[in-house]
Amino acid sequence: MADCIFCEIVNKRMKSDIVHEDDELVAFNDINPQAPVHVLIVPRKHIDSVQDMKQDDTELMSKMVLIAQKIAKKNKIDEDGYRLVVNYGVNGGQTVPHLHLHIMGGRRMTWPPG
Ligand code: AMP
Ligand code: ZN
Repeated sequence: MADCIFCEIVNKRMKSDIVHEDDELVAFNDINPQAPVHVLIVPRKHIDSVQDMKQDDTELMSKMVLIAQKIAKKNKIDEDGYRLVVNYGVNGGQTVPHLHLHIMGGRRMTWPPG
């Protein structure tokens, strides 16, 4: 999709620090990390948000979670724990309109979130 920064990253038109890629997903380090480990997992296919997922996309989020598990193991945060986040819309705090799963770890998170 034109003007989508995550599509630009997926298509390698914009530089990023990619930590995983496969046929359907790309994962890269967040440019403004909120934790020692902060990776974004995005589908290659442009989907605006979690609220725009369709029946055909039902396996996608499971695959995103399985990649998050692998990233957690690789970064040794799988035992201490981590947080998975999907922001949606204004109240959810979504700033990039291309579906993404945040995995954050390496420090103790607080609850409730801000
Ligand atoms: P959200 O607020 O859930 O939409 O998250 C968007 C995330 O994308 C934020 O954590 C940003 O720091 C991150 N971000 C924005 N631009 C880039 C970029 N070019 N490379 C890596 N991460 C980015
Ligand atoms: Zn996009």
